[in-house]
Amino acid sequence: MGSTGASAGAGLPNCGLRIEKETGLDRVVALAGNPNVGKSTVFNSLTGLRQHTGNWPGKTVANAQGKYRHKGRSFILVDIPGTYSLTANSAEEEVARDFLCFGGADAVVVVADATCLERNLNLVMQATEITDNIVLCVNLMDEAEKKKISIDLEALRSRLGIPVVGTSARSGRGLAELMDAVWDLTEGLTKTEPVRVDYGAPIESAVSALEGEAERLLGGRVSARWASLKLLEGDENLLAAIREHTGCDLTEDEDLAALAVRARSELERAGIGPNELTDAVVTGIIGKCELIAREAVTFKKEGYSDTDRKIDRVLTSKLTGIPVMAALLFLIFWLTISGANIPSGLLSKGLFALEGPLGDLFVRFRAPGWLRSAAVDGVYRTLAWVVSVMLPPMAIFFPLFTLLEDLGYLPRVAFNLDSFFRKAGAHGKQSLTMCMGFGCNAAGVTGCRIIDSPRERLIATVTNVFVPCNGRFPTLAAVIAMFFAGAGGIFGSAAPTLILTAVVILGVVMTLLTSKLLSKTVLKGLPSSFNLELPPYRRPQIGRVIVRSVLDRTLFVLGRAAAVAAPAGLVIWILANVGAGQTSLLEHIAAFLDPLARFAGLDGYVLLAFILSFPANETVIPIIIMSYTASGKLTQFEGLSQLHALLDSRGWTHLTAVCVMIFCLMHWPCAATCVTIKKETRSLKWTLVSAALPTAAGFALCSVTAAAARLLRLA
Ligand code: GDP
Repeated sequence: MGSTGASAGAGLPNCGLRIEKETGLDRVVALAGNPNVGKSTVFNSLTGLRQHTGNWPGKTVANAQGKYRHKGRSFILVDIPGTYSLTANSAEEEVARDFLCFGGADAVVVVADATCLERNLNLVMQATEITDNIVLCVNLMDEAEKKKISIDLEALRSRLGIPVVGTSARSGRGLAELMDAVWDLTEGLTKTEPVRVDYGAPIESAVSALEGEAERLLGGRVSARWASLKLLEGDENLLAAIREHTGCDLTEDEDLAALAVRARSELERAGIGPNELTDAVVTGIIGKCELIAREAVTFKKEGYSDTDRKIDRVLTSKLTGIPVMAALLFLIFWLTISGANIPSGLLSKGLFALEGPLGDLFVRFRAPGWLRSAAVDGVYRTLAWVVSVMLPPMAIFFPLFTLLEDLGYLPRVAFNLDSFFRKAGAHGKQSLTMCMGFGCNAAGVTGCRIIDSPRERLIATVTNVFVPCNGRFPTLAAVIAMFFAGAGGIFGSAAPTLILTAVVILGVVMTLLTSKLLSKTVLKGLPSSFNLELPPYRRPQIGRVIVRSVLDRTLFVLGRAAAVAAPAGLVIWILANVGAGQTSLLEHIAAFLDPLARFAGLDGYVLLAFILSFPANETVIPIIIMSYTASGKLTQFEGLSQLHALLDSRGWTHLTAVCVMIFCLMHWPCAATCVTIKKETRSLKWTLVSAALPTAAGFALCSVTAAAARLLRLA
């Protein structure tokens, strides 16, 4: 596409911006880039004091213009707002797109950040769709060198088909070469051949069907390929802009309209609707950026040795990365489940043995019977359950998890899952915040701060609760152990471990599905890619691992659970012992909830237990037990078999167990997480969405499972 020069003193009428040219030979250069890449530094270094600022006509977006001279020629530098994309989602993006499209600049310099080039290439690829006259300025080269990131500028040049210059604008390094490159381009000494993203056969043929007619109408004022693509996408905003700036209405031309209808129906036939088209364009661009970055960028992180590389070949390869990850997950769960059984039994024996002496104390102090019952049967038993069931698995799970974290494995997890999250329209770092959610969803939600883009941060926040936190692990583990345990012995725990792993994988899949749903509907946008730096593997300091996992995590979580379990025990005791006539309050509420709960494969008591566990998820099972035993007491816990018998007697089947597991995985977040979501998003609406989404998903999945089981006469 050719550029349209501007006449002296007339400015560039199509963008309404006044550009003061001294002679017709002055060149106009647009300066574009993502925010914070050093664009202003380049601008100031080149133009010095010869600059002035104002606003873009009709917009509250600031505009700066400045001049510099090079090889006897005057160049007018126009600062374009810093943006991540040119999809015109905001005033800045619209201004940037319109100027690149219709501003008639003689050259466009796209400034990119060398330390995260892949993300920056997104904008470059979008700009090359609009214009051919592009110079890529890879800035912050000094920072990249410091971070041991090496950029092969020659490879970039040949892959992108445009001039590429490396700069460190703050120290002025490379700016002379940048001016040379711009001079060569505007003098016609450099011929650019920007790389085109191949969007796949059906889309490419649809575009070329329109291109000829579009070219005839546009006459080189706007890239015909790009306009055709946007016409197919139905980008009304751009079509209106073309109308406004060129006077050419692409939608009015009958020939083009007929071609567009035909091309669209061809696409529909190939299964590509408007949404899939936008999706394919975004994915195509991201894929291309990834490919180019892989060839041009090398991370030579200090300590990233050959051994690390060899390990990474197994842990992060396409073929083995995910299976190894699943196997590690399995191993951790297996160690946790099989290792926790014995200490859990011992702890409960010890704690429940203390019950007698505790009750005697009340008798000695002549305390009334109801007080003794409330304190011992209500509060103490709930606490004893929570401690004996939660402490052993946590004391195994957390150190193992912290060990993987310290070894440097978690960034590899993010690396393996990156492409899945991107396909879901979310950020690769979400895999890390998701991992944090396994510990505690409130921590995971706070962790979402590591994601820069507000849209992707919100997606990560809202979906964090789909992975089970350790408050929910004990419930899952107990239900699995009771209903799905295989033969005894050490390998007997393989079946429950497999099921627990499957539940966790279901949580990950649901995270991806809801992320995709959000990114396709209310949180639309382009996923910002990022260059994940794989840190070197480190030998973990065992002492630190133990201190951090036991003190910071295990005891913290246990303390929180106990603090909530004690009053919850009391509330249940009251609900079970206070009531109208023969029926306790608890039974009334459970009966009220029963029809809804049964529809989802649960029962009223179970649903009530989930509701009452809002302060802390770990109290679900104790509450179920307390409400099932008519006296409102927690039956003495002598291992899971006794508990299994109790649940059996209340009509639990394998279907109930499955539905409890699904609902445990997917329902509203606990109180602490809700408060954290509210704090982080500063929005009640998004907090409610975060609670409603998993609840709706859980309820729907439970109902479908229950209906299917009934239909197949499995339950
Ligand atoms: P803009 O948002 O793209 O306009 O970015 P700025 O020009 O404001 O630069 C952002 C930050 O990066 C500032 O602190 C600059 O001093 C710094 N910076 C810009 N260019 C370079 C560079 O080449 N090397 C280093 N180390 N810092 C730079």
